[in-house]
Amino acid sequence: MQIRAFVHAIKGLISFHIALNVVVVLFITGASYYHTPLEGGKDTFVYLGHLFLLQTTVAGFMYLLTLYKWVFRIAFSALFLFFCSFSFFAYTQDISVTPGLIQAVFETAPDIAIDLITLPFLGFLFVAILVLLFFIKWHNRLSSRKGVALFTLISIGCIALFFITEMKRLNTLKSRLPYNVFNGIEDYYGAPKFRLNTMLPKVTKQTDSLTIIFILGETVRADHLGINGYDRNTTPLLEEQQVISFSKVYTSNTYTASSLPQIVTDKTLDVDKESYTSIYSLANAAGYETTWIGNQTLESSFASIVETNKNVLLVDKYKSEYSFNKELDEVMLPVLDSVLKTSHSQLITLHMMGSHWYYENRYREDFRKYTPVITSKYIPSVTKQEMINSYDNTILYLDYFLNEVIESAKKNETPTAVFYVSDHGESLGENGQFLHAGEAKEQTNPAMLLWFSDSFKDRFEEQTKNISEARNKRLTTNIVYEYLREIATIKRQ
Ligand SMILES: [Zn+2]
Repeated sequence: MQIRAFVHAIKGLISFHIALNVVVVLFITGASYYHTPLEGGKDTFVYLGHLFLLQTTVAGFMYLLTLYKWVFRIAFSALFLFFCSFSFFAYTQDISVTPGLIQAVFETAPDIAIDLITLPFLGFLFVAILVLLFFIKWHNRLSSRKGVALFTLISIGCIALFFITEMKRLNTLKSRLPYNVFNGIEDYYGAPKFRLNTMLPKVTKQTDSLTIIFILGETVRADHLGINGYDRNTTPLLEEQQVISFSKVYTSNTYTASSLPQIVTDKTLDVDKESYTSIYSLANAAGYETTWIGNQTLESSFASIVETNKNVLLVDKYKSEYSFNKELDEVMLPVLDSVLKTSHSQLITLHMMGSHWYYENRYREDFRKYTPVITSKYIPSVTKQEMINSYDNTILYLDYFLNEVIESAKKNETPTAVFYVSDHGESLGENGQFLHAGEAKEQTNPAMLLWFSDSFKDRFEEQTKNISEARNKRLTTNIVYEYLREIATIKRQ
């Protein structure tokens, strides 16, 4: 009898929470899944499971906010509308909540902010407010305190599920709404994770007329380049440009956050130091104009290093690799052309999205040479061959992109070097492994390429010869910093 009375008392409470969670899925958490390409029922089912897991953890936090009337009225309402204003842009434009976006929200000039406040946005918020008022009224009618202990216990379990999931696989939930907002804020306010030297040795450069275009690639394994002997001719244009390929470069850092800081500083793979020197600080000290042109959003692991450039130009800074509407790397090309005109002594970096998963978002349709390609983001439902086909199409696009950069370099008046290195490789089904951030050998052998203009070869014979001769040697990514310094003719005074 007692149990029955108890169940009856909390029935209303349960309906309230189910309805509230459904609304939060529709208005907030669902936005993180809306653009995910999925093929067929099984994929949809898996992603619904993912969303269910996410919402279960959110429900844990939400429950605590419903315990007291005024907490619910004020704190819950404020958070709900705050997250709704992000989810609107996640639904409509597939933006990613990154530290860069948080910076824009907190620091952007009011006139730009006003541009974002459109009629549909206000309409979305208006509907959200109406729904909220309905729930505030409903919440008022929930008088019973029965079941509080039990529900609190369950909600703590749900919250624990969040931390357990994140421990098992980082960013499973954190990269999605509403958690990515907290993540972005934390990263925005957080101290730089990488300690940089500010005291630099006195350095000088050999010439006032030299351009280095350094291209930081993404997820390109050396053995899928035709130029390195891959059985598909994925690099026809680069072969024509007589690019030098270093096919035996290795790194133990197989994800961007760890590899990028190592590549563009004097950090080595084997020895840790207190602080490191950014190649850009060194180039600045030697008198170069340094410019970072990036298609990737800045992560806290490397933002402070990027900011040692004199100029930072991010082309699509509100969409990260998680966005399915991310711009293609070619949007950086006109920016490069205009930067090239500004000075005769430059170190310009292009930071690509490259071949980062989801591959189908990384190249133009006219590069879809290898088919069939993947049609779902759910890896178990696509074949290994489809993965390889899509990936190889991204390499064809890379071939095009680098060729365009070289063509721009040819038009440049000063001696010019184009230096490309990928941050790490990628697994494409070897031993059942996919993507990166592991230890498989396909992930540890990134592509590295070099091209010199004729005027560079004439003017810097020694550098050209020394570096070109190392092409068949076994190297590590430690060499990138050294080569950049050598190509830039930077020497201690
Ligand atoms: Zn990467």
